[in-house]
Amino acid sequence: MRKKRTNRLILLILILTIAIIAAVFFLVHKIADASQLEEAERAAEEAAQKESEEEAEEQARLDKIAEEKSQWYLILVNNYNAMPDDFDIETVEVEDGYYIDARVHDALQEMLSDCRDAGYSPRLISTFRTRETQQYLYDHTANKADTALPGHSEHECGLAADIVDADSLGWGDPLIDAQEDMPAQKWLMEHCQDYGFILRYPKDKEDITEIIYEPWHYRYVGKEHAAIIMSNGICLEEYLRDMQDYYQAQ
Ligand SMILES: [Zn+2]
Repeated sequence: MRKKRTNRLILLILILTIAIIAAVFFLVHKIADASQLEEAERAAEEAAQKESEEEAEEQARLDKIAEEKSQWYLILVNNYNAMPDDFDIETVEVEDGYYIDARVHDALQEMLSDCRDAGYSPRLISTFRTRETQQYLYDHTANKADTALPGHSEHECGLAADIVDADSLGWGDPLIDAQEDMPAQKWLMEHCQDYGFILRYPKDKEDITEIIYEPWHYRYVGKEHAAIIMSNGICLEEYLRDMQDYYQAQ
C-alpha cells in the first residue's frame, strides 16, 4: 500500500519535471524566435536605409553631371549643334591680335608660355572668329566639306585655338597631318590637358566628329574634363554622351 503511493508520487514528480522542462524549452525557443525576428527586422531596416542612401548619392551624381553639362566650358558645337544665339562671349587678346574667351585667356597663355620655356615655338594661327569671319571663310573655301558652317564652328564660341609649330609656317599650308610630328605640336598634344585643353578632333574619330583629324585645334573644357577625355582617348561627343560612365561626382 505504501509502496504504491510512493510510486505514484515518483510518477507525479516525473510528469511535473517533464512539464517544467517542456515549458522552459518552449519559453527559451519563443525568446530566441523573438530576438531573431528583431534582428531580421533591424537588418531589413538597415538595408533599406543603405539603399535609399545609395539612391540619393546616385541622384546627386546625376545632378552634378547635368549641372556640369550646362556649363559654358562643355558647350557642344558641331554639325548638329549650332552655337546658341544667347551665348555670351567676352574676348581678350592673347597675342599677335588673336583673341580668346576672357575666361580661357590665362590657361592658353600659360600653355603657350610653358611650351616656349620647354624650348619649342608654338604659334597661334586662329582663335576666336566672329560669325561674319566664319561666313567669309565658308564662302571662300575651295573645300566646303572641311569648313564648318557659320554658327557651327567652335572658333565662334571663343574656346578654341589653332596652334602650329612656327617651323611649319613656311609649308604653304601648315594645317596638314604632318603637323603632328612637329616638336611644338608633340609637346602640346602631350600636355594640353594640364591646362584644360583637349585635342578636339582626334585621329580615328572622324566618323563621330565629322571633322578631319586636326593635330592643331585645341579646345578648352577645363582641367578636370580634359584629363578624363585625353586619358581615355575619346572625343568630346563621346564624353558628353557617356559622361555617367566617365565622370565621378566629387
Ligand atoms: Zn580650328
